[in-house]
Amino acid sequence: MTDKKIKIGIGYDIHRLEIGRKLIIGGVLIPYEKGLLGHSDADVLVHAIIDSLLGALALPDIGTLFPDTDNKYKDADSIELLKEVYGIVNSKGYMISNLDTNIIAQAPKMMTFIPMMKEVLAKTLNLTLENISIKAKTKEHLDSVGEGNAIEAQAIVLLEKM
Ligand SMILES: [Zn+2]
Repeated sequence: MTDKKIKIGIGYDIHRLEIGRKLIIGGVLIPYEKGLLGHSDADVLVHAIIDSLLGALALPDIGTLFPDTDNKYKDADSIELLKEVYGIVNSKGYMISNLDTNIIAQAPKMMTFIPMMKEVLAKTLNLTLENISIKAKTKEHLDSVGEGNAIEAQAIVLLEKM
């Protein structure tokens, strides 16, 4: 590991929406007729954040770190995985400066859940609320996300040497 003062990382994720699954985004359970399909709880936002942190450190991605072939991660709480990755960030001597994210979903409306997501992420990542941004976008009814068959998330993070 180099001793760079700052490091930037980007993360992206997408999960299919299916009937009969819980919809968990940013560690918050959102009431909806469908939920995200995945081996873990399929928290698309938290997965994008995890990949941004791993990317900043140039480490292998979430799928390598928490393989979906490992039963240990079946229905895993992604916030717990995020805690583990944040521990890696700290162990490398870094803290998070700020985090900016996008949730791209045609439905349901994310707006009312964003303050709760920020609280969960602030607690998990030892950040103040003014250093966490969560923006919600739709896909203007275009493509799989716009047709309501999937939800996407993007994250970008800046790490600072402690
Ligand atoms: Zn994922």
